[in-house]
Amino acid sequence: MSDAGHAWLVGAGPGDPGLITVAGLAALRQADVVLYDRLAPHDLLAEAPEHALLIDAGKAADNHAMTQEQINAALVEHGVAGRRVVRLKGGDPYVFGRGGEEAMALAEAGVPCTVIPGVTSAIGGLAAGGIPVTHRAVATSFAVITGHEDPTKPESQVDWARLATAVDTLVILMGVGRLQEIARALIEGGRDASTPAALVQQATTPNQRTVTATLSTIAETAAREGVHAPALFVVGPVAGLQPQLDPRRLAPLAGARVLVTRSRTQASTLVEALRLEGAHPLVLPAIEIEHRVDAAQVDRAVAALRDRAYSWVVFTSTNAVEVCFEALQEAGADARTFAGARICAIGIATAAALADRGLIADLVPTEAVGESLVEALVAAGGLQGERVLLPRAEGARDVVPDGLRTVGAEVDELTLYLAAPPAEAPAEVLAAVREGRVDAVTFTSSSTVKNLATLLGGDLSALRAAKVVCIGPVTARTAREFGLEPDAVAEPHTVEALLDALRAGLHAARTDAVKEVR
Ligand code: SAH
Repeated sequence: MSDAGHAWLVGAGPGDPGLITVAGLAALRQADVVLYDRLAPHDLLAEAPEHALLIDAGKAADNHAMTQEQINAALVEHGVAGRRVVRLKGGDPYVFGRGGEEAMALAEAGVPCTVIPGVTSAIGGLAAGGIPVTHRAVATSFAVITGHEDPTKPESQVDWARLATAVDTLVILMGVGRLQEIARALIEGGRDASTPAALVQQATTPNQRTVTATLSTIAETAAREGVHAPALFVVGPVAGLQPQLDPRRLAPLAGARVLVTRSRTQASTLVEALRLEGAHPLVLPAIEIEHRVDAAQVDRAVAALRDRAYSWVVFTSTNAVEVCFEALQEAGADARTFAGARICAIGIATAAALADRGLIADLVPTEAVGESLVEALVAAGGLQGERVLLPRAEGARDVVPDGLRTVGAEVDELTLYLAAPPAEAPAEVLAAVREGRVDAVTFTSSSTVKNLATLLGGDLSALRAAKVVCIGPVTARTAREFGLEPDAVAEPHTVEALLDALRAGLHAARTDAVKEVR
């Protein structure tokens, strides 16, 4: 590494944090300093190392945007001081991003600089809105134009008259404030007034919105619909394909804002699956797993397990598996501890968590609820006089231990953790919930329902309009207790089935919504 530092001009993509490139992310993850733009997705800042200095280039100390000169100077200053500087820009750094000027300033100061291209909103944002920038037999050329300049002023550098008929697709950035003038200039330049036109607002974000009209009606439509910046203004026959290619028509979860209430560690499978299908997961960590491990108790359990004192170990959640193995590790024990006992997992997810740790469950009841678990254990040979170890959460339902005792088992409860509401929730997610900007909510346990209610000040009425999907009947019952009628209950009680239910529920709701917009 040289002493002179290094700068990376990184295109962060149009808005969805998932649309940064692999190279861009790698640069961000090793930065000492990050200078970011207003339009660069701010969620990405969490990817910078903890020590990194984050500078909002949209806001200087006096609350005004930094001028380009100040930005260049800051890049050079940190580069010369030997730091690894990432300039994080919306879209592509060289598309109306003044990235060229920044690279020149760095070169002049002798700071090495690497440009990492990004997905430009001009093409990618349009695609996300359901408009292909080219289309066979419809559009074979496109131009990307700034709408920032007033087309009626003689000093305008954009030759609207010449552009009007020269290319099939015109993509105008920074143009929402001048729709009327631009449309008129294009019509005067010879473009047909009935040419399809569209606006894609906040493309690829949870607030994405697309409005379609014609060149002559787009300004009026935009005013009526309250379209605002940032938005892409597109003129050309491809805009007429939007109703057919509306992402919500192509996939049931596209663009859906889905509230995911799980513990921070558990959320990832569901969140990734949602993102893959174009949904926007709003992650509200409604459960925090607090360890309640008593080392002496764990030692006693380990010793009894090694003495083959237990006929069964019953795991009633993936959290129980996770925390139990952590506790074992701390006690210097591993999976072999369980060699003398049979293992029961409440459901497939818990069985999978065990399999990850090298244990194949001997028994998985068909229905992942406590009642079925007791029945299944009885069916597997009875429990009269048998000792059962039950790793569990503090304050969990007593259905399992009580049920096991009723059929004659001697149950040792090993309290390992507490599923508690988190101390705080992300403000932007809470705001989305309160303002009704949630299309669906998923509950994966009764505690996610209870804790979400706690976070929302005691009631869930803000979610009335959202589709409610629960993992199982017990969770559904709890949702009802809080006044939310579940639209669907996953069957079987797995994340995959939960997604199926969500797709089905949203598909019906959104096909109607798409129709309404037309
Ligand atoms: N370098 C950026 C463009 C910067 S100019 C890029 O390559 O995308 C800023 C303009 O880009 C905005 O005024 C708007 O017209 C457009 N824009 C950027 N992000 C957008 C988004 N997510 N949705 C709609 N338009 C966007």
